[in-house]
Amino acid sequence: MTKLIDTYGRGHRDLRVSLTDRCSLRCSYCMPHDFAAWLPNENLLTTDELITVIEVAVAEGINEIRLTGGEPLLRPDIVEIVARINAIKNAPKLSMTTNGLALAKLAKPLVDAGLERINISLDTLDRERFKTLTFRDRIHDVFAGIDAAREAGLKPLKINSVLLKGINDDESVALVEWALKEGLNLRFIEQMPLDAGGIWSRSDLITADQIFADLSTRYELTPVDDRGSSPAEEFYVNGGPEVIGIIGSVTRPFCGSCDRVRLTSDGQIRNCLFSMAETDLRATLRNADLSDEAKRESISKAFHSTVLAKLPGHGINEPNFIQPVRPMSAIGG
Ligand code: SAM
Ligand code: SF4
Repeated sequence: MTKLIDTYGRGHRDLRVSLTDRCSLRCSYCMPHDFAAWLPNENLLTTDELITVIEVAVAEGINEIRLTGGEPLLRPDIVEIVARINAIKNAPKLSMTTNGLALAKLAKPLVDAGLERINISLDTLDRERFKTLTFRDRIHDVFAGIDAAREAGLKPLKINSVLLKGINDDESVALVEWALKEGLNLRFIEQMPLDAGGIWSRSDLITADQIFADLSTRYELTPVDDRGSSPAEEFYVNGGPEVIGIIGSVTRPFCGSCDRVRLTSDGQIRNCLFSMAETDLRATLRNADLSDEAKRESISKAFHSTVLAKLPGHGINEPNFIQPVRPMSAIGG
């Protein structure tokens, strides 16, 4: 049972842990290709500090951890991090979101260390478009990563795709066709205003309705019941058993059932992607005057106060919405 309950009665069980804000790609909707504003190296939590925070979170009722970033596989000790989380008492369910580039090498060691589930991000099947979207010519590494994840036994293999107007918004059917053939569970995510370059525009948004309409020209989509706290609305394709998901983060917010808290790679906890406030754990973790027990107590209080301050919704559709300063890459998606 989680002890992290907010003023609206939402229980928090899912901690998104960003391991770094660095990345091997430069997806335009996440960070610009000439991004230079990295978090200072010395501000990134060490693995010992990370594990302390996760242990406290688990004691408060977090039972699911998703490792993300930036690109989590850039963390040199990623296999050790997975093994250490898995060794925590009452170990949480452990998953990861990755661009997949380094999975050919790491999928097997990660599974051996206890990684249970993975989401791999891929927005296009076309090499040139991939280059346009990510500023890197590495689509072959993503395909190799998907193969390696499958061989390592990661199941179900989920693929995240963001559709952008004029770049890949004509590719939804091709992506589903490919996912069905490859036995992958594809989910489309509406683009959120979280890029560092301020490129998001509501008029360019490829909405959940648009995606559903495009796919319905080709497939019969019937809703899967029992969404729980999942952000994805799932649909059986042509009667199933295959499903696809659509995450309408902007036009169909799921804030009412949100059970997530986020830890940034520089040790700040956030109660929402769009939060304007953060609670600093790094200073507590590095305070030489505090005993280990005092640090844990302070971190536990910080989790509670962060969750209590959570707003009912993300506010993107409100007239006074202000985009957070941190881009997605520095929060952890
Ligand atoms: N680098 C890893 C990856 O790409 O999977 C993990 C971090 S990335 C921030 C996590 C997910 O957030 C990816 O699936 C990515 O497509 C998604 N994402 C990034 N920026 C986004 C945005 N502005 N709107 C919607 N999704 C976004
Ligand atoms: Fe990197 Fe993932 Fe952001 Fe793309 S979406 S730039 S892969 S962190």
